[in-house]
Amino acid sequence: MRKEPVKVKEKEASARGANFDEVVLGYSEEEALQEASRCLQCKNPACISGCPVGINIKKFIYEVTKKDYKSAYFTIREKNDFPSICGRVCPAEYQCRKACVLTKKGEPFASEQAINIHFLERFVGDYGVKNNLEIPVEKDAKFANFKVAVVGSGPAGLCCAGELARRGIKVVIFESLHKSGGVLRYGIPPFRLPRDILDYEIDYLKKLGVEIVPNTIVGKAITLEELFADGYSCVFLGLGAGVPAFLGVEGENFCNIYSVNEFLTRVNLMSAYKFPEFHTPVNVGKNIVVIGGGNTAMDAARAALRLQKMQGIPVNTTIIYRRTEIEMPARRLEIEHAREEGIKFEFLVQPTGFSGDEKGFVKKIRALRCRLGEPDASGRRRPVPIEGSEFEMDCDLAVIAIGLSANQVLTSATPQLKTDKYFDVVVDPNNMETSMKRVFAGGDIVGGEGTVIEAMGMAKTASNAIVVRISE
Ligand code: FAD
Ligand code: SF4
Repeated sequence: MRKEPVKVKEKEASARGANFDEVVLGYSEEEALQEASRCLQCKNPACISGCPVGINIKKFIYEVTKKDYKSAYFTIREKNDFPSICGRVCPAEYQCRKACVLTKKGEPFASEQAINIHFLERFVGDYGVKNNLEIPVEKDAKFANFKVAVVGSGPAGLCCAGELARRGIKVVIFESLHKSGGVLRYGIPPFRLPRDILDYEIDYLKKLGVEIVPNTIVGKAITLEELFADGYSCVFLGLGAGVPAFLGVEGENFCNIYSVNEFLTRVNLMSAYKFPEFHTPVNVGKNIVVIGGGNTAMDAARAALRLQKMQGIPVNTTIIYRRTEIEMPARRLEIEHAREEGIKFEFLVQPTGFSGDEKGFVKKIRALRCRLGEPDASGRRRPVPIEGSEFEMDCDLAVIAIGLSANQVLTSATPQLKTDKYFDVVVDPNNMETSMKRVFAGGDIVGGEGTVIEAMGMAKTASNAIVVRISE
């Protein structure tokens, strides 16, 4: 008889309330063993091809069944530097779990029966963190005199830095913000990714000798030419996609209408959720509307709802999305959690404008109902507004979470760097080298908004190519 999937423990929705504590609590050892025992150990494991970095999933799950967690950790670390992070944030339902043979053919995302690979990965990753497991450092004396500059400290930059430092190359990360981690710090809230996990990984890099220079915008404070003149042999660009898109509708400049970056940065990086310990509150008001259907929208809505609870305001947070739930790009778990926590969803709704009061603060959002038309270039069915369906909703705070694109500060200061029509950096996908020799790039600055593991996969390819360049 087929064994049932082991449900991961979560904080009760009613207990999530006025705090940013982690919601998913992870597997106990017993639960991990039970879930791992469901794996069929397929002769040709399809899940591996579903993982963007090709973790040997079958092998690490087998090692879990044998209680050999140390080997399982090293198996994962061969391909993924941050298993505790990816085990928490990877959209596994579109990746490895979707490819698992236990997912029914033709399903849009993984079936419930598919092995909970991400929760097992988290269990193993956390075992590694708790036991301070470190993968062997193979410092090579021949690299001792080389140094590489990494621009950006998101998952791409951190991963590239770790890979190079372990080989004995001196790495300096330049980060424009005052804290490192990129989206892992300013975007994803602590109730999804506790900061001690991120800090552990960054501290480990520092122990390896990686230097982090904060508050430094490369392209403004220092140019790529100046880095090379300072003796850096190669540069890796992990700039991310930090520029938010706006709706372009009437009234978008009213006060209390935020881009998702500004809102989440205030909450996460500036610690608005720790007011009054930190003096950066966000006054959320009675009626919150978040526009969008991705992880950014879910994170903004769930953070805003928590702030309402903290400020003693009755919860009224709505996500509006112009397609239906099935087309939402957000992780399924995030949608489920948002709903459990009391967030309302309005599907097939397209904003058309905002109105405000005499002091310039937003008060209403106007929108049109839509129906789904033919698929667009992305393959998803296009929302078609229904004439005459316009309606209004009360709105004291709006967050616009409809997409992110490349920041051009560095690329516009470096005309030799070839970019595409989206201002993303163009690379050779075989080695991630840009149009400038010895300048490599990876993560969201290449190909636009992606995932944490995809960013790390590109960084790993680039780090291998950097080692080859240095050895030439
Ligand atoms: P980033 O994480 O954006 O880091 C780039 C860093 O470079 C930043 O720290 C920035 O300050 C710095 N920088 C930029 N320009 C310069 C410069 N000129 N000089 C110096 N420093 C510079 N993915 C998932 O897999 N799962 C999720 O659940 C998920 N949730 C998300 C939630 C939110 C709110 C957001 C915004 C994204 C989410 N993503 C998720 C996507 C994922 O976080 C990104 O794909 C990933 O962070 C990209 O990594 P990166 O290193 O390329 O860029
Ligand atoms: Fe799945 Fe992500 Fe882990 Fe890969 S890294 S095995 S995609 S959860």
